[in-house]
Formats: sequence, structure tokens, C-alpha cells
Amino acid sequence: MYHLEVKNLSADYGGHKVLNDVSFTVDKGAIVSLIGPSGSGKSTILRVLAGLLPPVSGEILLNGTPVNYRDRGDVKAVRDCLTIVFQQFNLFQNMTALQNVTVAPVKIRKRNRKDVEEEAVELLKKVGLGHKLNAYPDQLSGGQQQRVAIARALALKPEILLLDEVTSALDPELVQEVLDTIRMLASEGMTMLTVSHEMGFVKEVSSKVLFLDGGCIVESGSPRQIFDHAEELRTRQFLGKVL
Ligand code: ADP
Ligand code: MG
Repeated sequence: MYHLEVKNLSADYGGHKVLNDVSFTVDKGAIVSLIGPSGSGKSTILRVLAGLLPPVSGEILLNGTPVNYRDRGDVKAVRDCLTIVFQQFNLFQNMTALQNVTVAPVKIRKRNRKDVEEEAVELLKKVGLGHKLNAYPDQLSGGQQQRVAIARALALKPEILLLDEVTSALDPELVQEVLDTIRMLASEGMTMLTVSHEMGFVKEVSSKVLFLDGGCIVESGSPRQIFDHAEELRTRQFLGKVL
């Protein structure tokens, strides 16, 4: 059984079609990477999966069970289990790192504050920020802020983490520390769907790579297949490997 299965997914914005018959599977513990030109629909896939944009058609199965994205209960359940982290960290500026991580589990999930705080401290330690618990976002570097954002997502105990260009807003010297955090999560078996422009990283960590163009999956395969033996001209053009 797949952790996530997407079948013939189509989505649009106000009638303008941006995803066209997209199908793929994600195994438990896999990292599946979406690559492709700007506007090809990568973020839209993550948005649909996270329950932020209802699909027009298609089927999405989580642990083998179909999710009805038009049913509020199903959408709530899916939001509890697929958590998205964005390029812009969107931390609450008036809250400390610790408060940023605890706020949703306490206020929205209504969990016990003390339990949540203990977990949040552990999560912040895990992403290398045990010494910054009480720092405010403007006292943290971009890489540190993004790691707080990842800890905040993990505090919701997601089954699948959706990462949308989480290093794209960072200065080059801060990219590695965030990639290291993702590597650590991968080694712990977290299932992840990532959009990234860090091609070296995508090649290194991905279980599977999907190349998108114009709202369609043009080609998918292992990193080796896509990066070294792409069959489609468009894939090779995108990767700059046209003879
Ligand atoms: P990518 O993440 O690959 O750059 P997106 O999924 O963001 O691509 O966008 C896919 C297409 O949908 C693009 O043509 C983009 O202009 C369009 N689009 C994205 N967001 C919106 C929106 N909120 N409203 C209308 N069109 C959008
Ligand atoms: Mg995008």
C-alpha cells in the first residue's frame, strides 16, 4: 500500500487549468521531489494535497483510503496529517521560537500546554535551536527561522511533510543547515514531498523525482533516471543537458 497515491488529479484557479491529469505515488518513508520550471504547478500540487485548494477531478488516497476534498471532515483530517512548510517562513513576529512552535497545538488542537511545551523544546533541540527557545524571529537568521518553521510543522505530528522551496528565500550560506534538517528527518523515516531548486540535494536524497511542465508530469523516475538518463527532451532542456 502507498502512503499517498494521486490519480488523475486536475486543478484550476477560476477555470484556468493548472494541473492536468497528474498521477504519482509516494511510499512510506520516501522523499518524492517535484522539479520543473516556474509556473509548472509544483506548489499547486502541494496546496491541493494540504487541503488548501479543492481539486477539480481525480482521486487522492492516503494510506489506501480515498480522501474527499469536498468534505469538511475529510479536509480537516487531511490537514492534520499533511503539513506544509513554505518558502516564506511566516513565523509570528511577536512570539518567541518556542511560542511559535506551541501555539497551534495548544490553541487549535487544544492540547495540554505543558506536554506541548516539552515536545516543542525537544523539537527545537532536534533542529539545532535548543539555545534559541526564547529568541524572537527578528533575532534569528533566515536559516534558523526556517528551522523554527519546520519544528512548528513537526509539532502538529504530521504523517507527511510537504516542503515548498523551503531554502529558496535563504542566503546561500544558510541553505545547508536547512537541508541538513531535512536529511535528518529523512533518516528518521518521515515521508516527504518536496519542491526544491537545489538539484544536488534533490539528486542525493530523493527516492523519486517528478519533472513537471505545464501542469503535467512529463517524466518521473529515480534521481539517476531523471538526472543522468532523462528520456524526454523537455526534461533534459530543463536540466540543461541538451546536446
Ligand atoms: P510552481 O510552483 O511550479 O511555480 P504554481 O503551482 O505556483 O507553479 O502555479 C501554477 C500555475 O498556476 C501558474 O500558471 C500560476 O500563474 C498559476 N497560479 C498559481 N497560483 C495562483 C492563484 N492563486 N490564482 C491564479 N493563478 C495561480
Ligand atoms: Mg511554487
